[in-house]
Amino acid sequence: MRRKTKLIHGGISGDMHTGAVSVPIYQVSTYKQEAVGVHKGYEYSRTGNPTRHALEELIKDVEEGYAGFAFSSGMAAITAVMMLFNSGDHVILTDDVYGGTYRVMTKVLNRLGIASTFVDTSDLANIEAHIQPNTKAIYIETPTNPLLKITDLQGASAIAKRHGLLMIVDNTFSTPYWQTPIAFGADIVIHSATKYLGGHSDVVAGLVVVNSEQLAADLHFIQNSTGGILGPQDSWLLMRGIKTLGIRMEEHEQNTCKIIEFLTNHPAVTRVYYPGLPSHPNYDVAKKQMRGFGGMVSFDVGSAEKAEQVLTRVRYFTLAESLGAVESLISLPAKMTHASIPKERRDELGITDGLIRISVGLEDADDLIEDLAQALA
Ligand SMILES: *Cc1c(COP(=O)(O)O)cnc(C)c1O
Repeated sequence: MRRKTKLIHGGISGDMHTGAVSVPIYQVSTYKQEAVGVHKGYEYSRTGNPTRHALEELIKDVEEGYAGFAFSSGMAAITAVMMLFNSGDHVILTDDVYGGTYRVMTKVLNRLGIASTFVDTSDLANIEAHIQPNTKAIYIETPTNPLLKITDLQGASAIAKRHGLLMIVDNTFSTPYWQTPIAFGADIVIHSATKYLGGHSDVVAGLVVVNSEQLAADLHFIQNSTGGILGPQDSWLLMRGIKTLGIRMEEHEQNTCKIIEFLTNHPAVTRVYYPGLPSHPNYDVAKKQMRGFGGMVSFDVGSAEKAEQVLTRVRYFTLAESLGAVESLISLPAKMTHASIPKERRDELGITDGLIRISVGLEDADDLIEDLAQALA
């Protein structure tokens, strides 16, 4: 099955009892047993629910893994994966991971004895240099936010295999339509499905795909024990979103290419960050592991004043956090998502006061360009 077909026909499509072409919303908590312990595969909806199961089968197929799991948010998914580790274990993470990932590692899981080190994984030598005797996993986000840094998945997985570590990839920015990390050696793939997979700014959800029977058993045990599951209604909404992921990602890409061309030629823009630009430092790696480069772009307009001027003048770009929806979004990382990082550290990382991040939506590209042009004027 090719990619777009799999998004529609992967997993369990429709309802075999009625012929309904959409999986029903099984709004139910418990299931009748014919005799004690004799049931049709479902006992209680925390453990398993048919609508959630259909979504879990779909994401498993789309990410080319062994089993899928649906959680109530991306953070619930990330936390459940971290529960695979024990007190005393250590994880190496990409230094500019999603802020919530940084927070849960350094303010919650650290209290339970799970230690973490954050390194620039776009340089593989940094990973190798920070492996300790108690290191259990490498956790990678690629591309990152807001600088769109790229980590070589195959290279990182070779290091993980050599040292007996799990390789975990947050694939939220790329989506499985453009990047399938398990094919490059990842053991676990995580999504904030709130973003591109849902795609319509109407559901908060997290997904995990694992590549082995053992990890599937371990993660199912954790999901059932800790209970951060996705409800049937949201599972259905997510399946509805995933059906159009292919055409949406193609359109995001086309719009983004036109906007990139506009931004790179604009005199007020000092720098554009996008993994699909040949000038990107990891363009070759990006080309090797991504089929498309996505709809996330950052660009520098030189100063906080200019950036705020752009943000207040745009009409079609909504000033908001989050990304990956049909609506174009705009944000100022230094004042919003990355405000908690000290200014010196932000400048070191390249997250300057004039850096604007956009999530290119599915409006007409000409409207979006005209909008940016008047805001930058
Ligand atoms: C949003 C996001 C998360 C967290 O997901 P929620 O659904 O908001 O809990 C994790 N990783 C990345 C890359 C994200 O963008």
